[in-house]
Amino acid sequence: SMGVFWFRRDLRLADNPLLAKAANECDRLLPLYIDDPGEGTEWAEGAASRWWLQHSLASLNRELNRRGTRLSVRRGRPSEVLPKLVQTLGAERVYWNCRYEPQALVAERNTLAALRLLGCRGESGRASLLTIPESSGKPDGTPYRVFTAFWRARQRAGLDLDVRPAPARLPPPPHLPDEVIDLPLPGQWSDKFSAHWEPGERPAERRLQQFIEDGLGVYPGCRDFPARAGTSRLSPHLHFGEIGPRQIVAAVQAWAAESGQESAAESFLRQLGWREFAHHLLYHFPETPNRPLDLRFERFRWASDYGKSLTAWRRAETGFPIIDAGLRELWETGWMHNRVRLITASFLTKNLLVPWQEGAHWFWDTLLDADLANNTLGWQWVAGCGADAAPWFRIFNPVVQAERFDPQGDYVRRWLPALRRLEGKKAHQPWKSDCSRTNYPPPMVDLKTTRERALLRFRKLPKRG
Ligand code: FAD
Repeated sequence: SMGVFWFRRDLRLADNPLLAKAANECDRLLPLYIDDPGEGTEWAEGAASRWWLQHSLASLNRELNRRGTRLSVRRGRPSEVLPKLVQTLGAERVYWNCRYEPQALVAERNTLAALRLLGCRGESGRASLLTIPESSGKPDGTPYRVFTAFWRARQRAGLDLDVRPAPARLPPPPHLPDEVIDLPLPGQWSDKFSAHWEPGERPAERRLQQFIEDGLGVYPGCRDFPARAGTSRLSPHLHFGEIGPRQIVAAVQAWAAESGQESAAESFLRQLGWREFAHHLLYHFPETPNRPLDLRFERFRWASDYGKSLTAWRRAETGFPIIDAGLRELWETGWMHNRVRLITASFLTKNLLVPWQEGAHWFWDTLLDADLANNTLGWQWVAGCGADAAPWFRIFNPVVQAERFDPQGDYVRRWLPALRRLEGKKAHQPWKSDCSRTNYPPPMVDLKTTRERALLRFRKLPKRG
């Protein structure tokens, strides 16, 4: 029979059980990607994500070529593109893996309905998570709002850890009349990303292997220090599904069993737990990319005229080296270290009183790992309005944070050449040195008074309840 496999955020052949099933059931199978930029919608892929996507699709196509088939790329709404293709091909089945972003869920429902009208079967599977958001609630049916309770319960209930190898062969593709292979145009985003990243399934597997060999054992001690390559940097690969969490858990557990380093493995797997939690929250609270989960914060008084502050922050011109270094790292590499994401986000929302949604949008456009679930969780967590969030009165002092987590100043000097001459910790407070020869800007705000201003406003929030 004739089938279509619709790739979404599962751009891989291994650990994709539904693809294996489709390969078994169909004589001909069309591997398809639908480029649905969601024009006009707020959370359409950002510029950095488009760069990654384009390379990832090219890489997926090469893997498909090795198995005697090729990727077809179409543009438009899935609920329109798929029925048309199904009719042209006379396909009987369409397969895809679930996504949990609100818009993706709608697209999926509409597609299913449109296919049903044609008498074509749509079948969905799971490839992106270890847990099932639809059934991740508490025993009383309400969603978890506390991470530890969520993760413990999910672990107890059993995670999905069944990893299948890539199918050795795939059915040949159908002959399509007038076929246009319409890969997305090369993005405008700078080629500098290629110096830091290699999208694709094989590079993702290599990165995992390398991290397990060199980084996992020291992960708990290194993961908070942005100058070190102390984390896996798997986030964009995971976001696009070039590697799945099941594969990561399997590899990490095998390593832990062999090396006996259970606690390092546990500390890393906990981060994957946060990823699960973020997707669980987005599924149960689909309005949270725009609205605070804690609704009291809808009445919070942000700065009324924050345009200039936001611009200085985006351009890495705040005058606080750890903030500027982070935003520079983001601009240059499409990624920012988690510790620095926390510090830059806290500075924006608390010292500058810029609404967290503005920061979330900037990250959305510039992060290669931009992920609606993780980004929303991260920003709401820092702003204090999310589930299990930092208390609102926790306001990071960027200098104290910098001295603790970048004790030699290596990270800030790496991204801010203007500070090269300031040794060690001195690089964190250039205003204390004679830096008339550097063209580094002075601090844009006073940390103490802006902190007090934020605390005053937060105190005006109604009490929880
Ligand atoms: P590792 O430490 O190696 O962790 C392994 C994997 O676990 C990551 O790849 C990621 O998938 C997951 N993970 C780790 N930390 C978190 C976390 N706090 N929440 C959810 N998942 C996590 N992560 C994104 O993937 N996309 C985003 O858009 C995003 N935006 C963020 C915004 C803010 C304000 C903050 C504070 C955090 C954000 N994060 C986001 C979470 C985290 O910073 C990144 O996942 C991490 O830095 C990626 O680097 P890594 O792969 O080396 O992480």
